[in-house]
Amino acid sequence: MSFVDELDAWPRERVAALYDNVTETEVLSAIGREERTLRDLAALLSPAARPHLERMAREAQRLTRWHFGRTIGLYAPIYFSNLCAADCLYCGFAVCSGVKDERVTLTDDQIEAECTALKNMGYDSVLLLTGEAPKVVPPAHIARAVAISRRHFSSVSVEVYSMDEADYTLLCESGLEGVTLYQETYDRELYSEVHPRGLKRDYAYRVDTLERAGKAGVRKLTLGALLGLFDWRLDLIWTAMHARYLQKHCWRSSVAVSFPRLRHTPPRFRVDFPMSDAELVQAILAMRLFLPEAGFNLSTRECGDFRDRVMSLGITSMSAGSSTRPGGYVTKGEEVLEQFEVEDTRSPEEVVAMIRRAGYDPVWKDFDRAFHG
Ligand code: SF4
Repeated sequence: MSFVDELDAWPRERVAALYDNVTETEVLSAIGREERTLRDLAALLSPAARPHLERMAREAQRLTRWHFGRTIGLYAPIYFSNLCAADCLYCGFAVCSGVKDERVTLTDDQIEAECTALKNMGYDSVLLLTGEAPKVVPPAHIARAVAISRRHFSSVSVEVYSMDEADYTLLCESGLEGVTLYQETYDRELYSEVHPRGLKRDYAYRVDTLERAGKAGVRKLTLGALLGLFDWRLDLIWTAMHARYLQKHCWRSSVAVSFPRLRHTPPRFRVDFPMSDAELVQAILAMRLFLPEAGFNLSTRECGDFRDRVMSLGITSMSAGSSTRPGGYVTKGEEVLEQFEVEDTRSPEEVVAMIRRAGYDPVWKDFDRAFHG
């Protein structure tokens, strides 16, 4: 039994039916409840909840402060390879994206230089990223990058291709703390349409990835759907189910949710389900009410103005000063292919100043490790 079996029991039509005839009374009772059901989540995500965003915001803020205090964790991504054999239609790294910029994999010395640059900016938590090129960047190479990074940072996570449990064990032995992996969309039909080739085509293998990582001892599991790919009201129900499944089955790991919204895509791809700012705010609030103990991340995909406004409504961790191209901090120039355009281009100092102005403490250091021993 894995989460795939649960998904099989919740096809598109059954999830959509959760939204049937949601009333204002249901929205208000979903806001007032302590524990919320999937129908409650659907009520909070539905158009019927739009007039009640302020009440939802107050509850989301209360829950976030109760579980996380007034703190915002800070992390930075390190892209160490942009090689990719997959062809996800929406991604700039895709093998057939048509984008001609340079493809590179950083050497150990270059990874070291990127780490030094980020350490000097104050970071103590990084996310290492690659495309899907296991022949050129195999798990052993990723493990080496983790080990190099661990010499500089107390928390190292990866956002790479799906791997076997034994590979995650190897990464944990090198000092890995977290795995971020987005399902992109939980809708099987659309999933195979937008992933025409590569290992990523295997829907079930990808769905089970975070559970394999948890079993291997990864302490932080971060999931999400790529918002804009499919009907976000459906994908967020599946995401929330997945988060609860992981909380139950990987109880030694903490579970976090990211809200990546599709903004810039290669010319061949059109965003069919665009999500407005107001809808993303509603989504974050509703998810906070459903998952009070989950960390919520918001990256520099979103512009500074928007991040400033939503930060206090449920977000617990943010990237800042990010580059999405390998060697983007010191070693490479702008000719190297980036995955997507960063919207919030402020420096880490500027983001930290904003966090402080809002009455929050920026947290560079990851304290989880100390608690877990
Ligand atoms: S989303 Fe990941 S696997 Fe897909 S093309 Fe982009 S980098 Fe490659």
